[in-house]
Amino acid sequence: MDFLRPATWADALAAKAARPGALPLQGGTDVMVELNFDVRRPAALLDLSGIAELRDWEEDGPVLRIGAGVPYARIIDELGARLPGLAQAARTVGSPQIRNRGTLGGNLGAASPAGDGHPPLLAGGAAVEVESAARGVRTIPVGDFFTGVKRNALESDELIRAVRVPPAPGPQYFAKIGTRNAMVIAVCSFALALDPVRRAVGTGVGSAGPTPLRAAAAEEFLAARLDWAGRGPLDAGVAREFGELVRAAAAPIDDVRGTAAYRRHALSVLARRTLGWAWDEHRADTAREAS
Ligand SMILES: Cc1cc2nc3c(=O)[nH]c(=O)nc-3n(C[C@H](O)[C@H](O)[C@H](O)COP(=O)(O)OP(=O)(O)OC[C@H]3O[C@@H](n4cnc5c(N)ncnc54)[C@H](O)[C@@H]3O)c2cc1C
Repeated sequence: MDFLRPATWADALAAKAARPGALPLQGGTDVMVELNFDVRRPAALLDLSGIAELRDWEEDGPVLRIGAGVPYARIIDELGARLPGLAQAARTVGSPQIRNRGTLGGNLGAASPAGDGHPPLLAGGAAVEVESAARGVRTIPVGDFFTGVKRNALESDELIRAVRVPPAPGPQYFAKIGTRNAMVIAVCSFALALDPVRRAVGTGVGSAGPTPLRAAAAEEFLAARLDWAGRGPLDAGVAREFGELVRAAAAPIDDVRGTAAYRRHALSVLARRTLGWAWDEHRADTAREAS
């Protein structure tokens, strides 16, 4: 197996163009497991961990642009206040060691339906910046990035460069169900984002379909039914219906981690629960602004 270790992004793109079968390697927390278990035997590994610009994040106009090689631990520490939903999801990934190595770029590259980074990116309206030497940069809305179980929209000569996501305009929450609290693949997960300025709702559902997905009907329903002025407690009927619409959006299967029926039920609970947290925060924000 050849080991390619470009020092610059331009060299990495050139290497990927020359060897489309080379498997990108960032933190290695998915790739090395697959190699150890002989799930993959690529002719070449393309190690991106030496490329400094992938490990940076920056403000780029209205969005935060997070390099594909920024590990979860830094997302939590450095971006937690501006991307609280993503940071909550990052805190649930693996262990401290995995959070120090594992990256959002690797999560997107693996494109597992259970990837914890995906629901908050869907809820927050993120886009994935990808690039090839031949065609340059293209920006893919994250909802179009996942194309099937562990499949994504990358062409064979493309690499993920960054994720572009607006800073949270309002409350964002993530919740995950697993067989224990840490070091666990999600049985299912849910992310919610409220945008009080645009009066819009974002959702992301994990581990309950061939790809991570949005619950579009639930988003529209909630955006129309919330009292955005934040005057009163959450209407229980609205919360219940929101949960039902999230349940209906899921397309889970029975597998070793849980049944489809359990996943649907759990998602309706997670949807109501995260909505309760988000609404309490929104009401508190509204009260503070009014005083
Ligand atoms: C013990 C353990 C616990 C884990 N727990 C969780 C968990 O709780 N939640 C969760 O979501 N995941 C978990 N994972 C999986 C893994 O940590 C995450 O998916 C992580 O985000 C992968 O990031 P990485 O940088 O290590 O990716 P890598 O392993 O380097 O790469 C992953 C995939 O992405 C591709 N890739 C990497 N970078 C690029 C790029 N720039 N362009 C194109 N393709 C690229 C690779 O070719 C590969 O297919 C766990 C893994 C382990 C070993």
